Amino acid sequence: MPSESPFGWSLAGGALRKRITPTLGGCGPSGAPRSAGPVRTFTVLLDRAGPQPGTTRADSLHYSGPSVGTETGRFEYHFPVPAEPRSGVHDMRLGNTINGLGIAVLVLVVALAGCAGEPENPYPVGSNILLLTVDTLRADHLSSYGYPRRTSPVLDRLASEGVRFEQPAVQWPKTGPSFASIFTSTYPKDNGIVRRVGMPLPQEFLMLAEVLRRQGYTTHAVVANGAVASDFNFNQGFDTYVETWKQELDGFDGDPNGAEAVNLHVRRVLDDIDRSKPFFLWVHYLDPHFPYVPPEDWADRFQDDEWFEPIRTIAIDQEKTKQQVTGIGHGQVLDGRDDLGFYIARYDAEIAYTDFQIGKLFEDLRGRGLMDNTLTVFTSDHGESLGDHAYYFDHGRFSFQTCLRVPLVLHYPGVLPPKVDRAPVELINLAPTILEAAGVELEEQGWMQGRSLTGRMLGWEPAGLRPLGGGLRHQGALAEDRQRSAVQTHLCSLSW
Ligand SMILES: [Zn+2]
Repeated sequence: MPSESPFGWSLAGGALRKRITPTLGGCGPSGAPRSAGPVRTFTVLLDRAGPQPGTTRADSLHYSGPSVGTETGRFEYHFPVPAEPRSGVHDMRLGNTINGLGIAVLVLVVALAGCAGEPENPYPVGSNILLLTVDTLRADHLSSYGYPRRTSPVLDRLASEGVRFEQPAVQWPKTGPSFASIFTSTYPKDNGIVRRVGMPLPQEFLMLAEVLRRQGYTTHAVVANGAVASDFNFNQGFDTYVETWKQELDGFDGDPNGAEAVNLHVRRVLDDIDRSKPFFLWVHYLDPHFPYVPPEDWADRFQDDEWFEPIRTIAIDQEKTKQQVTGIGHGQVLDGRDDLGFYIARYDAEIAYTDFQIGKLFEDLRGRGLMDNTLTVFTSDHGESLGDHAYYFDHGRFSFQTCLRVPLVLHYPGVLPPKVDRAPVELINLAPTILEAAGVELEEQGWMQGRSLTGRMLGWEPAGLRPLGGGLRHQGALAEDRQRSAVQTHLCSLSW
């Protein structure tokens, strides 16, 4: 005979012999509010021993997990359920008594079935969303990620005031594929955008901006990299989509794709923004991308400083214009230099310049009163190999940490308390997080493979619910040593 749980689920087989009582009440551990998402964890206490593993059914699912036990009668155990939400019990794990105490703990992980006492969405209604991305920015070259050079005072401050993730990973270390995953919240193996830029996003994918516009947002982007051009459908859902290389700026004679130009375009957008609606603004800077040629005032900022690497030189192939593995081609040489330290200092100067310009952007937004009530998300699409593994000034061919690991900061004073989260996290989770901040019911977003980070940022959920690197089909997120070996093999067998 089926027996009823206090949550109204039928537990088949009569295995549950006594009524179970939630020890903590409501959803989420410790009675804390939780974020919307596919995982629900209940911790409940059985007042006498439950059934043995293998004999219990919850809906149609056999219990097959390990036994867990506790002497106190309370036990919290969290684990992910399939990303596709469905009602009912997803899994059921039972802990039987130990030491003969006659107490068992039942942990039920359920999907999105209605849950009494669901917390309010923590984000204020009408929150603005500012997505700042800097192309080719590896995390370990920012001061806030431990870099000794002072490359990023503005972003460091943002990080100190927000939630800084220590180990973010992109889904694919190339611009088009990485942003395809960010904006569709799907893995490359499922959206088909892999390996290279210039692949149009299939129109059937629902993108972040499309959902936000449907939610009543005004949506704008200023992007400086042709890899996310409207030609490849990255403009889906945007009311305004400024591609810097296609636009003139009266009276400006600097780099049309540089950070200063980006800011000037943003200013134009903000001049015309509809203040009756919340906004989603995506600003994408390109400066740290090769070639490393920052504005003159910034170019020599770190040359020959105390962190300068004076020893290593780069092999230059005089026969080839471009080469990225084992050395560089003659067409890539800057200022006639072949010392690695020069190039790294130039890369760092690009970061520092971009950081300065981001400071200008913040000033502009603050001056217009547009930073209030705003979730700011800062990240990059991929890192950069700076001669690591004999791979020079490029990204996308290999899944080294230098190319996968990017900075990630979410900043919303008064909503997200400052914190450093040191567990791995994937950028595929950004879209669900942003949508939650915009008040979108996530249950409707069945296309998403990521999940909101809100609960994790607020301490409602544990970190690390998903394994890292699920999107890298060919370039699995392998351990560095294993990958190094693979690259060496590759180098021996190919001429580049
Ligand atoms: Zn890129």
